[in-house]
Amino acid sequence: MADIILNCPECGGNLEIDGAGAGLKVNCPTCHADLWVPLTNVVPLQNPDP
Ligand SMILES: [Zn+2]
Repeated sequence: MADIILNCPECGGNLEIDGAGAGLKVNCPTCHADLWVPLTNVVPLQNPDP
């Protein structure tokens, strides 16, 4: 399963979470906020056009 990219609403940082963590609560390593990993909504990384 693909990794899940979460955008922390508290500090704006990106968290890369293993797909197995979907539906679980994680702590942001930067600001230690509690974040719920979405079950299905995988947020794609934004790839700016070159
Ligand atoms: Zn954070």
